[in-house]
Amino acid sequence: MAGFDYDVLIIGGGPGGYVAGIRAGQLGLKAAVIERDKVGGVCLNVGCIPSKALIHQAELFRSIPNLRDMGLAVDTAGFDYTHVFDKSRKASDTLVKGVQFLLKKNKVETIVGEGTISGKNEVSLKDGKKITGKNLVIATGSRPRVIPGFEFDEKQVLSSTGAIMLPKLPRKAIILGAGAIGVEFSHVFNAFGVEVHLVEMLDRILPIEDAEAVQVLARAFQKRGVQMYTGTKAVSMQKGAGGVSVVLEDKSGTRKTVEADQILVVVGRTPNTDGIGLEKVGIPTERGFIPVGDFNQTRVPGIYAIGDVVNTPLLAHVAFKEAELAVEHMAGKSPHPRLDLLSIPSATYCEPQVASFGLPEWKATEQKVAFAKASFPYRGAGKSVAVEQSEGFVKVLYDPKTKEIIGVHIVGADATELIHEMLLGRTAELLPEDIAEMIHAHPTLSEAVCEAMRAVEGWAIHI
Ligand SMILES: Cc1cc2nc3c(=O)[nH]c(=O)nc-3n(C[C@H](O)[C@H](O)[C@H](O)COP(=O)(O)OP(=O)(O)OC[C@H]3O[C@@H](n4cnc5c(N)ncnc54)[C@H](O)[C@@H]3O)c2cc1C
Repeated sequence: MAGFDYDVLIIGGGPGGYVAGIRAGQLGLKAAVIERDKVGGVCLNVGCIPSKALIHQAELFRSIPNLRDMGLAVDTAGFDYTHVFDKSRKASDTLVKGVQFLLKKNKVETIVGEGTISGKNEVSLKDGKKITGKNLVIATGSRPRVIPGFEFDEKQVLSSTGAIMLPKLPRKAIILGAGAIGVEFSHVFNAFGVEVHLVEMLDRILPIEDAEAVQVLARAFQKRGVQMYTGTKAVSMQKGAGGVSVVLEDKSGTRKTVEADQILVVVGRTPNTDGIGLEKVGIPTERGFIPVGDFNQTRVPGIYAIGDVVNTPLLAHVAFKEAELAVEHMAGKSPHPRLDLLSIPSATYCEPQVASFGLPEWKATEQKVAFAKASFPYRGAGKSVAVEQSEGFVKVLYDPKTKEIIGVHIVGADATELIHEMLLGRTAELLPEDIAEMIHAHPTLSEAVCEAMRAVEGWAIHI
C-alpha cells in the first residue's frame, strides 16, 4: 500500500459500497467508504427495506377480513397511515445502524462527503481534501429517472423516494410504470384504500417477467380494483390546485384523461455516473453505465465499478455480488465465478408474489433457445389450501436434451423465498430428478417446487 491512504477507497456506501468495504476488511485490506448521505444507500434508506416494511403492513391490513371471518370485530376507523410510515422509517434506521456497526467491526472507515475522482488513485472531496487509494471502487448508485413533462416536485409528482417518504396517503393516485417498483406501490396503495391507476407502456405489467405468471397477478389486481392501462403511455400532465390531470394514449391513439391527487413516476433509474470525474481518468460510459469486465474492472487498471452504475439488473443483491467479485479480484483471491445473468433472482413483493430467474418463455422464444416446460399449481400442495393461499404455480423451463434448468417462474405466496431452492438446483448443476427425489417436509409450499420437478420427469403425484 506504500504511498496510499487506503488499499481500497470506495465512493458510495450503498449495498455495493458497504459490502465492498466489509469484504475488503475481511480480506485484511485497509478500506474506506466515502458517503455523502447515509450508508445503506437507496436500498436501506428509500428502497428495498422501507418498501418491504410498508408492504408487510399493507398485507396485515389486507388480512383484516380473515380476522372478521373468525368473529373478531376489527374497527378500521382509527387507522392512521402515519404509524405505518413511522414503522418503515424505524426499519430503515435499524438497518442503517446495523451497517454502520458492520463497517466498524470490519475496520472500514466511513468518510462523510461527496467524492469525485481526481486521479487514477485519488478522490477529492468537496472541501478540497484529497484521499488516495491503491484501488478505487465506484459505487455511486442511481437515482429515479425523470421523463420530460413529468418532472418530480415530490408534492404532486412523486419519485419512488417521494412515495416512500409520504407520511399521508393520497385518495387517488396514478402510477406510471408497472415494473417491480410500480407494482409494489400499487399493492401498498390499493391495500390501504387508495384508488390506483397503474399505467404501463408495454403490453403487460411486470413486462420482463413470464407472461403466464403475470396473468395471475394481473387477475388478482383486477379483482382488487387496481385499474391497469397496458400498452398505454402518458402523453401530458397538468398540475392544478386539486391534483394532477394526466392524458393517457393507448396503442390505437385513443386518449383518456385521468385525474388524481398525485402521480408516482417509476419508469426506471439513471446511473449516478455524471459529475464524478470519470473523464479525468478516461473511463467511458455507455448510456450512462460504466462498462466493466468479468470482475467489475473498468478500463483503467485498479478502478472498479459495481452496483447500479453497471448495466446489470439494478438490484441490491447484484450490487452485493459485484462488490464481492471486485474486491476478491483486487485482493488476488481467486474470485467466485463471474455473474451468471441467468442465475440472478428477481422478486416482486405483492399478493401474489412473483419470483424468477433465467429465461422466461417469451425471451427463450425470442432468443431461439430450445426449451421444454413443466409446471405445478399451488393448489396441489396441501399447505396452500390450509393457509388459503392456493393461487399460483411453479413453472420450470429446461433444456429438452440435457434437462438443465434454464428458467424458473413462481407466482404465489412466498414465491420470493421458494425460488432459492430452484436456484440452488441450477447453481449446483442438479437435475430436476435430484430435486424431485429429495424429501420435502409436508405440508409446505416447497412441495409445489418438488412437484414441478416431478412434472418435468412426468410423475407429479398430487395433480
Ligand atoms: C423503491 C425501491 C425498491 C427497491 N426494492 C428492491 C428490492 O426489493 N430488492 C432489490 O434487490 N433491489 C431493490 N431496489 C433496488 C436497490 O435499491 C438498488 O439496486 C441498490 O440500492 C443499488 O445499490 P448501489 O450500492 O449500487 O447504489 P445505491 O443504493 O444507489 O447507493 C449509492 C450510494 O452512493 C452515494 N453517493 C453517490 N454519489 C456519491 C458521491 N459522489 N460521493 C459520495 N457518495 C455518493 C449515495 O448517497 C448512495 O448512498 C429498490 C429500489 C427502489 C427505488
